Amino acid sequence: MGWIKSTILSSLPGVAHGFADRDPGLNPEGVFGFTGIARLNQVHGNQVFVLGERIGIGGGRVADGDAIVTSRRGIGIGVSTADCVPVLLTDHGGSVAGAVHAGWRGTALRILDSVLEKIDEEYGLKPGDLNAVIGPSVGMCCYEVGADVATLFRDGFGDSDEYLLETDSCKYMLDLPGINRSALVKAGVANVEVLGVCTKCNPNFFSYRREGKGVGSQLSVIGLV
Ligand SMILES: [Zn+2]
Repeated sequence: MGWIKSTILSSLPGVAHGFADRDPGLNPEGVFGFTGIARLNQVHGNQVFVLGERIGIGGGRVADGDAIVTSRRGIGIGVSTADCVPVLLTDHGGSVAGAVHAGWRGTALRILDSVLEKIDEEYGLKPGDLNAVIGPSVGMCCYEVGADVATLFRDGFGDSDEYLLETDSCKYMLDLPGINRSALVKAGVANVEVLGVCTKCNPNFFSYRREGKGVGSQLSVIGLV
């Protein structure tokens, strides 16, 4: 057990990354050669935080938000999840990195569109310049939602046949990694990789759906080195 790597991100120069399982060992900073890993106080919104030169990272979490982008080197940025979708991004040249926490609320708020806008605004990089990886998260196999959430996505996103399946008990199976993949592809992101690991199916990962309240969370981290 430890860290899962993306094929795409592993091929890029100057980028270190990993998606932890539930037992990645101590000192993730040391694993990647970072002086620290900046994380947010995640609130299931769509706020994107830019980690600039003046922000201290210390041991605490720097701000409320669900996505961080940075061009700083030597510092990791990370998100914690336990069924929600972690997304890591970087450009082809390894000059900007992003880490995103997309649960159903953040997904419905189109957090990835906000991240792509912020990367363009701050760094002048377009979706076609970027690579994105969708990490371990609850799959369509295990993510049952009620009619309220299903309706929200069907009305707001279209093409619902691709990511919603009605079950016999009038519930719906929702493909949260799939909707986020689709958002990235539609926006024009050059390469999108889906690791395809379901956190509820696989006991090596923390899963809110399997373990309930008080469950731990796994870290997904990326940074420029
Ligand atoms: Zn599953």
